[in-house]
Amino acid sequence: MPQRPDLNIADSITLKISSRGAARLKAGHVWVYRSDVVAADGVLPGTLARVTDERGKFLGTALYSSASQIAIRMISSEPVSDLAKLLRDRIRAAIAYRERIVRDTDAYRIVFSEGDFLPGLIVDRYNDILSFQMLTQAMDAASTRKTIVSELTNSMTPAAIAERVEPRILELEQLPAKSSGLIQGDKTGTVISMNGVRFHYDALEGQKTGAFLDQRENYAAAARYARGEALDVFCYQGGFALHLAAHCSRVTGVDSSRPALEQADRNAALNSREIEWIEANAFDLLKDYSTSGRKYDTIVLDPPAFAKSKRTLDTALRGYKELNLRALKMLRPGGILISCSCSHHVGRADFLEVITQASQDVHRTIHVVENRGQARDHPILPTVPETSYLKCLILHVSA
Ligand code: SAH
Repeated sequence: MPQRPDLNIADSITLKISSRGAARLKAGHVWVYRSDVVAADGVLPGTLARVTDERGKFLGTALYSSASQIAIRMISSEPVSDLAKLLRDRIRAAIAYRERIVRDTDAYRIVFSEGDFLPGLIVDRYNDILSFQMLTQAMDAASTRKTIVSELTNSMTPAAIAERVEPRILELEQLPAKSSGLIQGDKTGTVISMNGVRFHYDALEGQKTGAFLDQRENYAAAARYARGEALDVFCYQGGFALHLAAHCSRVTGVDSSRPALEQADRNAALNSREIEWIEANAFDLLKDYSTSGRKYDTIVLDPPAFAKSKRTLDTALRGYKELNLRALKMLRPGGILISCSCSHHVGRADFLEVITQASQDVHRTIHVVENRGQARDHPILPTVPETSYLKCLILHVSA
């Protein structure tokens, strides 16, 4: 048979997966775990390969990782002859989606990995600066990076593009060590705006890509109900606190990170707000405050992900229970609790259950005012449950 002129690696290199792996793909998921890979002969780390079942039936095209437990991330149900074109099309589609659905901000997620059919790629826009994270061998490959940076430059014309590196991910994917830095341009700082509130942004500082954009719509929602004296626990650079300040008589933000609080203070000045920032371990502070009888009208709890895996779920639930119990105790009648969890492993029902138990322990009645999730620029793909991770409950607390 004559060779097709466009024959590329995906046409010739095959990953064979078990029937359990195939069933997972049939259900619409895009991951296949290493334990379900039957054969990966000749498939190089971070390359494109066709995926078949054990009998050789074609199931789609994937990006392969030789290190991660998630060995296969599907990129198409079709054969792929031009990966660069596919990446460019997907990035443009992701940008068009945001143009339709994102409002009131110049800071939002442009590419949300699996949620945008670009597994392993995160791109955030912070006004005129873009910040990306490559989370897999395939996305980190030189040719892929080049295509992505070139498409982002053409489509968004940013002043600068920064790369943020998480050492834990490099380790998981067995990628060479490197540090965060500017990939293009020389601008590292800008000012972003969300719901009319302004924040300093520094492309090379802070956690994740710099801000927690997934909470953007929850800030505005929290502000709708907030009043009186407010406490923002795990405040980072003041996302909730600054939104609450317009509606509350007094706002206090608590975090264990001094650099985060210093930036929070600069953000307060930028918006001409007076906010008290306290550097403390939230667990200790809530224990002290609740036992000494402090009272608030509005409390926000937005801790880091306690459950990084299923194994740590019980400990995570205990952590959430303790935080929420202390907060409920401190809320005056008619108070508002905004309680968040960003662990995918903690289900929405489990999270509400834990808070309900806490409310029963302290004899407070709660009503669910809003049951919210991540901002809409972090699109949820129902067949990939991991794309849904943030819970944000707004609760009214009676006597
Ligand atoms: N609410 C923030 C995001 C919070 S991220 C926003 O909307 O931007 C979680 C924060 O918890 C981080 O800033 C981290 O520094 C802080 N943190 C982690 N462990 C902590 C602890 N034990 N006590 C206080 N803060 C903690």
